[in-house]
Amino acid sequence: MDNRYNIIVVRRCQVRRPTGGREEGLMEDLVIGACRLACEVVRSRRRTVRIKVAAADRLEVAAPLGLADAEVARLLESRKAWIARQSAKLAAVAASPLNAAVEPGAEVLYLGQPRRLTVLQGSTARPAVTLAEERLFVHLPAGPAAGRPAVLTATLRRWYAEQARSVLTERTTYWADVLGVRPQRVFIREQKSRWGSCSSRGNLSYNWRAVMAPPAVVDYLVIHELCHLKAPNHSAVFWGLVGEADPLFKEHRKWLRNHGALLARLFAGGD
Ligand SMILES: [Zn+2]
Repeated sequence: MDNRYNIIVVRRCQVRRPTGGREEGLMEDLVIGACRLACEVVRSRRRTVRIKVAAADRLEVAAPLGLADAEVARLLESRKAWIARQSAKLAAVAASPLNAAVEPGAEVLYLGQPRRLTVLQGSTARPAVTLAEERLFVHLPAGPAAGRPAVLTATLRRWYAEQARSVLTERTTYWADVLGVRPQRVFIREQKSRWGSCSSRGNLSYNWRAVMAPPAVVDYLVIHELCHLKAPNHSAVFWGLVGEADPLFKEHRKWLRNHGALLARLFAGGD
């Protein structure tokens, strides 16, 4: 265990409001090295403890009703290096200008590259987006209504959805051929917590946000879901199939894990 991290925790859980077998409370802030996390504990009839770093400075802990505070504290202590890593990751996302805003001059991620948004108003009769290397040109009609931020957001969002459909469908067709499998249908979705899925009927679903990832990572995702048509689990056999098609799959899987929060941020403010 890394001794750089020195936890100063955790006295007692102050019960805030007991509700039908649940108790919510706040612990003392958790201080690990340079980071400080507010610590919320929700107790319910569960068997295990779940620790979630919800933000760079916020920890959510779900714990069984009967588990002593000292036990929770001991568990946090044993996970402190992991907690510090997650917190640092989220702090880096929060500090990054990438995907932070949809406005002229902002940088958004597409196929692994930052692209600067350039708005050209009056250049077109209908909203459209064109990509030129490191720039994304958003063409909007003339007039004050078309210049509203909501129009820019909607136009860009529609463009991402279209790109996701075309890129993910094309890569699925390509890799299905290589792997000798045949998916039924391909859906592009807004998914909260996953990048893709493969149903027992052989339908594939992808999270449209995946199109922000580098092409090799997009391919990994496609290969992953297509390999489920051969092995509908995450067994050694399954990972063997993935590794044959994508020898760098571990790196690509890690990219998705490390950039999930960044990719989830674009348009997350609601529009
Ligand atoms: Zn899977």
